[in-house]
Amino acid sequence: MSTIAENIAQINTRIEDAKKNAGRTSGIVQLVAVSKTRKANEVRKAYQAGIHHFGENYLQEALEKQGQLGDLAITWHFIGPIQSNKTAAIANNFDWVHSVDRLKVAQRLNDQRPDHLPPLNICLQVNVSQEETKSGVDLTDLEALAAATATMSRLKLRGLMAIPSPRQNKAQLRNDFKTMRNTLASLNTQGFTLDTLSMGMSNDLECAIMEGATMVRIGTAIFGERH
Ligand SMILES: *Cc1c(COP(=O)(O)O)cnc(C)c1O
Repeated sequence: MSTIAENIAQINTRIEDAKKNAGRTSGIVQLVAVSKTRKANEVRKAYQAGIHHFGENYLQEALEKQGQLGDLAITWHFIGPIQSNKTAAIANNFDWVHSVDRLKVAQRLNDQRPDHLPPLNICLQVNVSQEETKSGVDLTDLEALAAATATMSRLKLRGLMAIPSPRQNKAQLRNDFKTMRNTLASLNTQGFTLDTLSMGMSNDLECAIMEGATMVRIGTAIFGERH
């Protein structure tokens, strides 16, 4: 079994290769290590191997780990579904939220973000594969949500996030990533200044980077299979 440090070295190589293949010579692809279900000591190992951005899906679990890792300069990303009674704790304890998909949640995060912290970085989660049950705003409602969020002073709207349906073939997956890229570009021609496309996981980061991902969220390929 390979170590977390070895896995991270491999992921960094995959990211660099994907950037080269995509002809992307400038700009970064930020690696966010997804540490849901992982213990604080595993997060610490990844940190020591050079990862400073971590993504968590479950609030209570995340808060516990944050308590154990307070000595590290971690940038915390909330990437899971958001119940509105959890927004205060999220607004107080995270640097980024990738999974905002409705106005009520954006409003509450804005109201609850403490003044002593910088504005909370926000990505709007898009239901790009148009799955019935999936979280994420529909493409048709995205522009209105983006416009409303962009006016909120305690939030900084950074970009878009998507989790394409894993049931698709490669071409469909690529097409979803392409839709995300085009959607971001189209919002920017309408006056938004979005710089972040959060897409790509352990199995599809190459495809996502080919279509312009600026942030990839990697769990299994760093920490191993989740149980
Ligand atoms: C679990 C999760 C990931 C990481 O997925 P892997 O396939 O383990 O890399 C990325 N993004 C979100 C939103 C997740 O819930």
